[in-house]
Amino acid sequence: MRVAKVAIVGAGPAGGSAAVWLAERGVDVTLIEASHNTSINGQAVTFGPQMHRGIHELGLLEEMVSRGNNFDGVAADVEPGGETRAAKSEPMVPGVRPMLTMRRQELHELLVERAQRAGARYLLGVSFESLRDLGDAIEITLSDGQVERYDLLIGADGIRSKVRGFIAPEVEVEPLPQGAYRAVVDDVTRDDHPGLSYMGSRDDYMCGYIELYGGLTYVTIAYNHEEERIAHADVPRRMREILAPELGEMARLRDLVTDELADIPGRVSFRKMETVMVDGPWHRGRVVLVGDAAHGTTPNLGLGAGSAMEDVLVLMRKLADDSPKTLDRLLEDYSNERLARILVVNRNSARLCRLQCEHGSNSPVLLEEYAKAAAEFDATVSPTGSSAYVDVFADFRDSDAA
Ligand SMILES: Cc1cc2nc3c(=O)[nH]c(=O)nc-3n(C[C@H](O)[C@H](O)[C@H](O)COP(=O)(O)OP(=O)(O)OC[C@H]3O[C@@H](n4cnc5c(N)ncnc54)[C@H](O)[C@@H]3O)c2cc1C
Repeated sequence: MRVAKVAIVGAGPAGGSAAVWLAERGVDVTLIEASHNTSINGQAVTFGPQMHRGIHELGLLEEMVSRGNNFDGVAADVEPGGETRAAKSEPMVPGVRPMLTMRRQELHELLVERAQRAGARYLLGVSFESLRDLGDAIEITLSDGQVERYDLLIGADGIRSKVRGFIAPEVEVEPLPQGAYRAVVDDVTRDDHPGLSYMGSRDDYMCGYIELYGGLTYVTIAYNHEEERIAHADVPRRMREILAPELGEMARLRDLVTDELADIPGRVSFRKMETVMVDGPWHRGRVVLVGDAAHGTTPNLGLGAGSAMEDVLVLMRKLADDSPKTLDRLLEDYSNERLARILVVNRNSARLCRLQCEHGSNSPVLLEEYAKAAAEFDATVSPTGSSAYVDVFADFRDSDAA
């Protein structure tokens, strides 16, 4: 292993999986997480089949499946109460159904508990403040006053990354004209589409739901309008207003988004969409970026968290490389390998977000662009060698009525 002592800033999907991998291989890991709130990017996260092999190779898939909802695809319609079509995906890891959704808190706990069991030190409620490059080490200062030296600093601190300032200070976060509303509702009634999630495309918004386990359902809205910040207490009411035209199952779930949910931690959120992309190297000296810190991604393609974990897989392979290459060269190889694939995910995701707002969610232009994005993604090579992309967004040609 190229490094013996590593600091990781951020315990999201990227930082958490890096902590598990490194700690389980005997590296002295400190995982630093500023926030007790795991719901800033929504309450749950979905991993499509194209991400399963990478997560499997990280050694996390089986446990994630046991703590999430593992299902087959999506049922979609283009008007409230209209004909529903099913698009089922193909599994990419034998024995694992192709779609996986889990609560972010559940994923966070799984990763942190496993990393801690392997000996990682977890600092919750502590922020990374600054760093000093000492050449053969990185010295970091934390909000609790600790100053310590490490062989490597991994910046997994999300779209508003502070670590990024050391590597690419010129890169700015770009606001996008869409808002993401999310709610987790109590729902013991089984849904109309067993084994599938649901997605409805309307001119002004896309709505959907995914069952979680334990009698909970995740209700999602991507709203195609520029909206100012929504006060937390107003999120349920605003969601009900947007979903007013809905019929059937979606209407039933709308009515379960009650005002009281705003008082329960982690049940509702609103997040304005934004994006960021570091086009150049993702490292400088002994500091390296993974996940949204390098390529903050919108949910339009549902590939952000899986891509963040793919970054980790590629970076971990480099750190385990025992060839004569220098650490600097290995980190350079890591960003080069990732850039081609990530540019496709990141740029398309933001572009689809803009197009959706401009043309409406049901526009043929948008469906065509989703198909193009899928094909382009398909042409990039994943770290596990798979280039197959099963498009659940745009390609309903061979679908069956759900
Ligand atoms: C509304 C919404 C829904 C989404 N849904 C999906 C989905 O279903 N599927 C999917 O694949 N992707 C989805 N994405 C994208 C996905 O959430 C991100 O790509 C993913 O979370 C990136 O993981 P990460 O670990 O890089 O960063 P994050 O998950 O953002 O984690 C970064 C962590 O760093 C911590 N941190 C930040 N600064 C500091 C600091 N200075 N010190 C210490 N800690 C710090 C933060 O508190 C946070 O916990 C969605 C995004 C949004 C906005």
